[in-house]
Amino acid sequence: MGFAVSYTLHGLSVSGGIAIGEACLLSQATLEVAHRKLAPRQLEKEVARFEAAMAAVRGEYESLKKGMGGAPSEFGAFIDLHSMILSDPELAEAPKVLIREKRCNAEWALLQQMEHLVGQFDKIDDLYLRERAYDIRQAVERVIKELSGHDGRAALKARGQREEHQIIVAHDLSPADVMAFKEHRFGAFITDVGGFTSHTAILARGLRIPAVLGLHHARQLIRDKEKLIVDGTRGVVIVNPDQHVLEEYELRKSQIEIERSKLKRLKDSRARTLDRVDVELLANIEMPSDVPAALEAGAEGVGLFRTEFLFLGRSDMPCEDEQFEAYRKVVRGMEGRTVTIRTFDLGNDKGPYFDEVLADRVKTNPALGLRAIRLSLSEPAMFQTQLRAILRAAHYGKVKLLVPMLAHAHEIDQTLAAVEQAKLSLRNERIPYDEDIRVGGMIEIPAAALAVGMFLRRLKFLSIGTNDLIQYTLAIDRSDEQVAHLYDPLHPAVLMLLAHTITSADKAGCPVSVCGEMAGDVTMTRLLLGMGLRQFSMQPGQLLEIKQRILTSDTSELAPAVRRLLRCEEPAKIREQLDKLNAM
Ligand code: PEP
Ligand code: MG
Repeated sequence: MGFAVSYTLHGLSVSGGIAIGEACLLSQATLEVAHRKLAPRQLEKEVARFEAAMAAVRGEYESLKKGMGGAPSEFGAFIDLHSMILSDPELAEAPKVLIREKRCNAEWALLQQMEHLVGQFDKIDDLYLRERAYDIRQAVERVIKELSGHDGRAALKARGQREEHQIIVAHDLSPADVMAFKEHRFGAFITDVGGFTSHTAILARGLRIPAVLGLHHARQLIRDKEKLIVDGTRGVVIVNPDQHVLEEYELRKSQIEIERSKLKRLKDSRARTLDRVDVELLANIEMPSDVPAALEAGAEGVGLFRTEFLFLGRSDMPCEDEQFEAYRKVVRGMEGRTVTIRTFDLGNDKGPYFDEVLADRVKTNPALGLRAIRLSLSEPAMFQTQLRAILRAAHYGKVKLLVPMLAHAHEIDQTLAAVEQAKLSLRNERIPYDEDIRVGGMIEIPAAALAVGMFLRRLKFLSIGTNDLIQYTLAIDRSDEQVAHLYDPLHPAVLMLLAHTITSADKAGCPVSVCGEMAGDVTMTRLLLGMGLRQFSMQPGQLLEIKQRILTSDTSELAPAVRRLLRCEEPAKIREQLDKLNAM
């Protein structure tokens, strides 16, 4: 191969910072597929599932080609090549024989056949032909992805290189994949798809690793082991940078590191504004293992524990004791600080869960379907198990119980009744629990923000989930990069809902926090302070930067300025006013 051509790709900046390293194409050497033995009666169904997945991927190639317009011609050639590979009987037919003969699942059969083919290519001397093995892997990988839906994703295997020098390049990453990163220390990750507040992006920010999503064809254009610079702050990826660019980015990278280490000095200082208003800064966590990061950032408590992540990628329902242990671990780890445990927000983009019965109930439009509290209320046994586990853990510290996705008064009433039922059963069994646990609700559906009075009358605290609130107010799928440019926290409708919720809660004397991504966005801190917000919950990695902003803010100046901003309806005017706030 000749010298490497340098080029730049632009995507969504979802997690800041700079990483320099080599491309690690996810799943080339890392794809792990489960092997399942099937009963004879399941075999024909499995063959049909295989055929459907192959057809779906071929259809996807066709529509990609149609929609290509002015895209580079090598991309068209690439699609043709992959369609051809998938039409070859070695891949289109042989796996069916394997399914029937070996009584195995389709993914496994396809993978076996791929390994067999690729093994033959590896023996060839010709570089061009040897590289076709790579195309076979890519094509097969797409079918496997189709077969396994959005779960069963890549389990990561380390490969020789130091992890911080590896940049994960993937078409898509599920939150489960990113969770697996917690055990690794990759330099950055970039993907073709995904939105700013997708759970994948949220986790990236939590890990404090640079990430650029929505790069469209990065996974196909970038080759394994190519040198990359990822500028997470600007949403830019530079492939094969020249020496001059490399040096410039190395310098910027070390400047960022210096800034970050300076911030650490703020860990133990109070988050107090210039006019001496105390602000509570809390952490969002997904696992007990996130507790050290929360403490390290100086969090005053956990404002949101997304419990559904604990059990991601499992196919069974976690029992009460297992949940109890996990919750208690967080409660103990937080050493007397308050822990807000949210009941499962299952059924959305975090992946299919537990047994197939539940996965089956999640329909084509999961964000509007049986998600979060709706799913919990429709599965009373599952809900009771979780409530009992939370109530038991609450005995060991300060715990608040948070309910996601409430829209109706009767959902709150039913939830409160379910909590009472769980308490009663624990009382009868003489198991210790917290009788006085405070129950609060997420405000993340516009209906809840508009009719917040019925929440205030029933609940002890509120937490605004701006990620979903924006998604539902603007009808923008938060995980879809195609509409990411329309996902606007500063839309006047969003601001009205936020301000209305905060002011109403204040008047009612009800504590209110923001636990969506807006709380960790330093450009929004003064806006929220000016609206009257005094509790912010965010990924631990964002906390010190927010604290720094609070220390230099004055709420007595911000309040009137934000009132003026809220009177604006024109987006340009709103931005202008926000810039002024941030320059104050
Ligand atoms: C939100 O919607 O803002 C929120 C905090 O919940 P999640 O991101 O888990 O949906
Ligand atoms: Mg939400």
